[in-house]
Amino acid sequence: MFRHPSTHRTLLLACFLFTLAPLTATGEAVSVARVASEREVPALHVLWHDAYGLFPAPAIDGMKLEVESLFSANGVRVELHPTKRGQAMSDYPRPSVNVILHPIEPRAWNLEKNVMAAAVGEPDEGFTVFVFFPAVLRTIGAFTVPKTPRGLASLSRAMGRVVAHEIVHVLAPERGHAPAGLMAERLTRKLLLRGELWLDGTSSRLVRVALSRRPRPTPRRRPERPPAPVDETVLRALR
Ligand SMILES: [Zn+2]
Repeated sequence: MFRHPSTHRTLLLACFLFTLAPLTATGEAVSVARVASEREVPALHVLWHDAYGLFPAPAIDGMKLEVESLFSANGVRVELHPTKRGQAMSDYPRPSVNVILHPIEPRAWNLEKNVMAAAVGEPDEGFTVFVFFPAVLRTIGAFTVPKTPRGLASLSRAMGRVVAHEIVHVLAPERGHAPAGLMAERLTRKLLLRGELWLDGTSSRLVRVALSRRPRPTPRRRPERPPAPVDETVLRALR
């Protein structure tokens, strides 16, 4: 975890495969006395955006299951929703976190080549998770998008863990990394593909506290007019 040099209020949580930074244990001493009971914690909805159509469709269900089961094993209800073309964002349930799959290399963001994902945003205003697909593939030893059942299963599991790791950062940014498990600072190929991975107790409790403090969703009102189209200059810059 480090602060983005150009915007000191913007927190950039980057997850490295290999890093020379010392292991951060911030959050270990955070009081968890006010942990809400499971009944009080609302579900978190993760919106999975793959506008480029990068992720193989047969791997989506497995990835969804991996994300949801990592949290449900800790009494936290997370639901992953792959977004669909033509569906308004206001139609998806809240509270939600956006996860965007990118085809770009992390170096395009001046990050090390093994950084698989980053959560960008403000602690009080929410985060968006960006996943660098080439780095995830590289980490699991896949040089192309897998097509075999075994390869698809590995990709599902790995991507689910990368997404779940970032969701914990988003919900409990003060936690940082844990000595082991899902929130380990070094998410190696072995950790991404092994049969079992757990979320440590401190991270789990902080996630439940964070969710219990989130404002309850209020019904959205549809805008009276459709939003203005995005400026063409911006579109060009994004291509
Ligand atoms: Zn991390």
